[in-house]
Formats: sequence, structure tokens, C-alpha cells
Amino acid sequence: MNVFSAPAFDDHQQECFARDPVSGLKAIIAIHDSTLGPAMGGCRMYPYASEDAALDDVLRLSRGMTFKSALAGLPLGGGKSVIIGEPRRDKTRELFLAMGRFVDSLGGRYVAAEDSGIAVADVRTMGECTPHVSGVAATEHGGDPSPSTARGVFLGLRTAVRHRLGVEDLTGLRVAVQGLGQVGFQLARLLVEAGAEVVGADSDSDHIDRAVRELGITGASTSEILGLEVDVVSPCALGAVLHSGSVPRLRAGIVAGAANNQLATHEDGARLMDRGILYCPDFLINAGGIIDVYHQRLGSDAATTREHVARIEATLGEVLKRADAGHRQTQDIAEDLAREMLGRGVHARAA
Ligand code: NAD
Repeated sequence: MNVFSAPAFDDHQQECFARDPVSGLKAIIAIHDSTLGPAMGGCRMYPYASEDAALDDVLRLSRGMTFKSALAGLPLGGGKSVIIGEPRRDKTRELFLAMGRFVDSLGGRYVAAEDSGIAVADVRTMGECTPHVSGVAATEHGGDPSPSTARGVFLGLRTAVRHRLGVEDLTGLRVAVQGLGQVGFQLARLLVEAGAEVVGADSDSDHIDRAVRELGITGASTSEILGLEVDVVSPCALGAVLHSGSVPRLRAGIVAGAANNQLATHEDGARLMDRGILYCPDFLINAGGIIDVYHQRLGSDAATTREHVARIEATLGEVLKRADAGHRQTQDIAEDLAREMLGRGVHARAA
């Protein structure tokens, strides 16, 4: 395993590795940048095919968190952690206590929250060993930030529609949602409430059945969802879904989704631009979750959190305006804006 020469390494400030033989914990914490404050970011549990794949994920995700928090106007740095394991099989109380001790060993430089494969209850267990966790407050959603994430994505999607199609009203807008999990389901609900026609796909048929039954959306297969003839495609399942194979198949004019790191490589952003497809940078429009988690830690009321999430509209509007003026990728503009805020310079860009 190479760390400093790993493709996703972007002058990260710190990477820490933990192995606890008693609980079986194998985990990595990456702190990309703590210029603006402690590095806050989710803890992900996933059965990575290799340690290199886990390292790549945590490096990419923590970097995205730096940009996300900076653009969201949060006094937070970018960090992330990954636990190598199968969430449906390997979760134990001992594992999360060990992870809590690992988080605690950084003395608050990293603050953990939930992410894919990790439930609020798991973060609570970590919190028995460290105060440096968030997203566990007794709010309406029990600390779950996904409603705020879905709302931020919805506002971003609406901003992009206004910018590209010149319409305010989403009635009749056709949106394909890939992944009907915590965020995708709630996004689909907001879209349906706004009058949009939603088609959704999920690898778990129970999730499609629920969305069809409760929201009245149309189900589609996972293989066809990205290539449907719709106005907007919304990736809300996995990262790296926009690549040399999938981008040419897109028939939507806008991509606006929640998944982190949707672009497999920097070139895929160029491919989208060449095809005239407006891409909403994921780390900009999916920031509702980190904004929510931050305000949980402050003890803010719901109205304050909502108002902060709503600022995503103005930030995306600014990025789209600059992208049009400079004929540049939206992702690059958004990263440069964040780097300006960090004083990191605008040159270093990982593929
Ligand atoms: P989730 O695990 O609840 O939902 C993901 C859904 O995608 C699941 O229903 C899963 O069955 C489905 N899925 C998996 N592979 C698929 C495939 N190939 N095709 C279609 N569906 C597939 O996760 P979530 O919390 O809803 O998050 C969704 C995405 O948004 C993730 O990439 C996550 O990192 C990102 N994100 C989430 C939050 C949040 O607040 N939860 C915040 C920021 C970013």
C-alpha cells in the first residue's frame, strides 16, 4: 500500500490506521485539511475488496469533506473514516467501542458521524468512548441528517433546473433517481410533492416497492436508470457512477444527486461538459447532512438548520454563473471557490 503516492493523495494532513485484534476492527481515519476547524465527516463501513480500495475511498471522501464544509460556510475541516467490514455481518458493540477509542485518540482533530453502512445507534456506541462524535442528537429524526441532505439536493436540483431550463415550477419535470435509500427516498418524496414525475431504481427491490407504494413513483431497473430519457438524473446510491461508459449513455440535461464522488475521474466532468450536461457538484449540493450534524452539535433549532441548508441555492447559483462565464467545469469552479476559502491555491487537483 502506498500512501503519499496513492492516486487520491492530495497533501492530506494526517492518515491514521487502527487494528484491534479483539474486536476485529480494521479502520482508517484521514484528515485532509483542518484549516477552518476540526475535521468532521462520516464513518463508513464497507467490505472493501482491498486495503488500497479502503485507503482510496477515505482519501477521496475526506478531501470532498474539506470542500463541502468550506463551501457550506462551516468552521470545519475535512475528514472521514472507514471501517473495513460487511455491515450486515460484522457489526458488534465491541467493534464500535474500539472505533470510538480510535476516534478519541485524535483528541478532537476528527469528529465522526454516520455514513453508508453506519447507523445512528453505531455512532452512539462510539460515543461511549469519545465526545468527538456528532449526528446523535435527540432531534425529530433522532440525529439522522439524511432529511437535510435530501432537502439540500432538492434545492440544488431546483436551482439547476431554473438555470438550465428557465422554469421555477417543477410540475411535469422528469427525474430519474438512482438509489432509493435514506436520501433518495426522501428526495423522491420532495420531488413528487413539487409535481415532478419520478422514476426510481434500487438494487434492493423492497426499496423500490416501498417508493412505488408510498410515493407513487415509477420503478425502473438499475441497469437502465442512468440512460432514461428524463430532464434530470439524480445519483443517490454510489460514487463513481459517472464514467467513460455511463456518460455517453446519459439522455438527461442535468445531473444533480446526493452520492459522494459521482465523477469517477476529472475527465468525466469534461465529458459531461462536452455533452452539454450541467453537473451539480456533489459536495456542494449534498452538504445538507454535514450542516445538520454541525448544528446538532451546536444545539441549534430546526429553523436555523433549514436556513443554513437553503444557502446551498445561492452557492450553486454562483458556481453556475462562474462556470458559464469561464466555460469551465462546475466541479472545478466549486473546488476553486473552496480552495480560495482555504488559501490552498487552485492548482493541485487529483484525478
Ligand atoms: P443508503 O445506503 O441509505 O442508500 C443507498 C441506496 O442505494 C440503497 O437503497 C441501496 O440499496 C441502493 N443501491 C446500492 N447500489 C445500487 C445500484 N447499483 N443501483 C441502484 N441502487 C443501488 O445511503 P444514503 O444515506 O441514502 O446515501 C446515498 C448516497 O448519498 C451515498 O453515496 C452517501 O455517501 C451520500 N450522502 C449521504 C448523506 C446522508 O445524509 N445520508 C449525506 C451526504 C452524502
